[in-house]
Amino acid sequence: MPFNQSLRSRMLLYLVLILLIFSGIGYWSTGRLLAHSQHNHEQRFAEADLRRLQTLLHSQQQNLLHTLLDYSRWDDTLNYLDTRSSAYLKSNYTRDSLENLGIDLVLFLSTDLQVLEGLHLHDGRLQTVTTHNPLWQQLKPILAQRSQGELNEGIKLVLWAEGTAVQLAIGPITDSDQSQPAAGWLVFARHLDAPRLQRLQSESGVAFSLQANGSPLPDTESGAQIVASDLLKDCLGLSDVRLLISRPLAAQSHLALAERLQLGNSLLILFLATLSVALLLEHLVLRRLSRLQRVAHLHQPAPGEQPVGDELDQLSHSLHSTLNELKHAHRDLYAEVRRDALTGLGNRKHFDECLVLFQALQQRHDNMRTTLYLFDLDNFKLVNDCLGHEAGDHVLQQIAERIRSMIRASDSAIRLGGDEFAILSISDCDELGMQTFAERLLEAIRQPLLIDGIRMTLSASMGIADSKTGMSQDQLLRNADIAMYEAKSLGKGSVAFFSAQMHEQVRERMSIEQDLRAALANGQLEVWFQPIVDPNGRPLMLEALARWPRNGTLFPPDRFIPVAEESGLIDELGMYIARNAISALPRLQAVQPGLELNINLSVKQMLQDDLATQLCTLVDSAQVPRRLVHFELTESAFADHQQNLEQQLFNLASEGFDLHMDDFGTGYSSLQRLQSLPMSALKLDKSFTRQIGQGDERIARVILSLGEQLQMQVIAEGVETETERRRLQELGCPLMQGFLFGKPMPEQELITWLRLHSASPAPATGISRAS
Ligand code: C2E
Ligand code: CA
Ligand code: CA
Repeated sequence: MPFNQSLRSRMLLYLVLILLIFSGIGYWSTGRLLAHSQHNHEQRFAEADLRRLQTLLHSQQQNLLHTLLDYSRWDDTLNYLDTRSSAYLKSNYTRDSLENLGIDLVLFLSTDLQVLEGLHLHDGRLQTVTTHNPLWQQLKPILAQRSQGELNEGIKLVLWAEGTAVQLAIGPITDSDQSQPAAGWLVFARHLDAPRLQRLQSESGVAFSLQANGSPLPDTESGAQIVASDLLKDCLGLSDVRLLISRPLAAQSHLALAERLQLGNSLLILFLATLSVALLLEHLVLRRLSRLQRVAHLHQPAPGEQPVGDELDQLSHSLHSTLNELKHAHRDLYAEVRRDALTGLGNRKHFDECLVLFQALQQRHDNMRTTLYLFDLDNFKLVNDCLGHEAGDHVLQQIAERIRSMIRASDSAIRLGGDEFAILSISDCDELGMQTFAERLLEAIRQPLLIDGIRMTLSASMGIADSKTGMSQDQLLRNADIAMYEAKSLGKGSVAFFSAQMHEQVRERMSIEQDLRAALANGQLEVWFQPIVDPNGRPLMLEALARWPRNGTLFPPDRFIPVAEESGLIDELGMYIARNAISALPRLQAVQPGLELNINLSVKQMLQDDLATQLCTLVDSAQVPRRLVHFELTESAFADHQQNLEQQLFNLASEGFDLHMDDFGTGYSSLQRLQSLPMSALKLDKSFTRQIGQGDERIARVILSLGEQLQMQVIAEGVETETERRRLQELGCPLMQGFLFGKPMPEQELITWLRLHSASPAPATGISRAS
């Protein structure tokens, strides 16, 4: 990566620049602030120093005036004016005494301001002062303007003369009691020369200097800086001597050092700040960014596409493309989770969502109704079982294709699972329109399919339910399911509309199922027996019939056997009845030896692979000979499950059981098929017995003759009247069953019945059983 593009170098560069600018501003502003506050501080100190020095100088002057007044208001001094005796001067104004008093000049003036005498201490020697003395020249006009009274009080003056400041005190020469008017004036002067100033500086601790007012400020060659100044005051007010306070040299060098230190500190802080921010940036941001970027590189665009910009640009580019990919993946996934993988139709999730949508639409449009067409393929299981699941899948895909071609764009076609499909439609169709659509769809499904070179035709049964406002999804689905169930019971390829009555039936069926399950578990079912007799009424066989005492009455088998078959309870129920009937047989045979037992088998039971084995175990363990146990199968059962049933029939027959065809004549069996089955008896359905009673014997005659030809016994069911019995007997029917002889009875009642009827006379016609 070129340097100027590297985010790291650019960040570092910007960082240093920003820190430089900010620390420069910081340095400059703090410097200004410090200088300003230092100046203020110094100013305050300097002004205090000024006041202190003014006071000190003022008290020095005051002392000078006091000393002067001590001398001027003295008889000796007054005398001296008269006598002008040198003894007075010699004794009072010696070099030592003047030096002690710090006085450089003494002037004796006459009242009209003429110099009478003057002494000047110069370089340690006393000299006489002439009237040309420059100090006097300066003083004289000042004194001339002063009043007698002022002079009498004594005045203090400060003057600039001969290159130094001079403190002056002037007072009247008079007697000690001041009883006389002034005879002249006495003047003391003190030059504030360098040694004196030195002393004053060390006494006050303040660096200062004096200069004539108006003269230029002393040059700062020495480096000292003037920080404050003021004019000294005397009796006349402001003098022309200026007091200057200068910053000590040491302070100045400290200041310079402090400035250098501040600069050094600032640079050091700048360096450290740059270093730490750079390190932090590296650790907290850049390093992670590089890692993120490496990850992002994995998602880099197609080879050849050059990365643009710095790491962050590339990162954002990568994130952008990743987000795009995610968005697409999300869209695909969204569609995928709503799609049935096999057929491409919608799945249950799609169904739920569509239903919510359609119901919402329906609420807004009064004339609209949501309709659910629910259907499944009849006997689809057979396709799977016979041709395999792959072929089954092909069937489903082709059916889905047909559904897709039939529906409108606003409809939703869904595969709910297995071979169950649904079409959810919103329209203003009436029932007729729905019926037409349903029939067209079923017709399309009925068109032949070509699967693995095999041509097949499938049908579907359809239930249609309407969604009323406020109906839940579950309710709608359940209603359609009920209607589909009804359609199936109407026969393959039928359509049924849901009705409230259907719902009631389903509810009842469910309640029967629940109670039956409990009754079986609690052993509440009973087995009753109905005798099968010869034409003279002698019992030869017994038919075992299930009885269910429910809510105080006997619940009819015609109602609970179908429920048991649909719910799968029939296996348990069948074995229960068989077990109880077989175990009762020896007790019944004790009354009527040789009695045979007929047990009803449902077609659902016949589909159990191990049925024959189970029944053998049951019969053998009860030590009942197998030939005495017969199984009855309804003729209608053979219509649907021919193949499987035949196999089962042969199994049972080969185990030594007799098989009877129940309700014969109602199921339209093909005679050819009947011939091939291992049946030993036909049960003439009671509807034909009834016809005999009404004088129509045609079918009974045919069946009896068929039995004879096929060497099968015929048992006439439902014999209720003597006429029926007699005609059957005349027609040669060997066995009969019906209320005329005996109703189905519980075991104890049957035993009594048997005792009564076993002694019946032998049949007159002497029909014997076919073997
Ligand atoms: P099914 O096998 O045809 O049984 C004969 C039915 O005819 C019995 O009805 C019986 O009571 C009735 N019946 C007998 N004589 C007369 C008569 O003279 N006149 C009239 N009108 N009816 C007569 P039930 O017991 O109500 O049984 C009805 C059906 O329920 C049976 O018809 C059978 O298919 C089924 N079923 C009964 N018990 C069992 C069982 O344990 N297993 C199986 N799988 N089915 C059973
Ligand atoms: Ca029967
Ligand atoms: Ca029957």
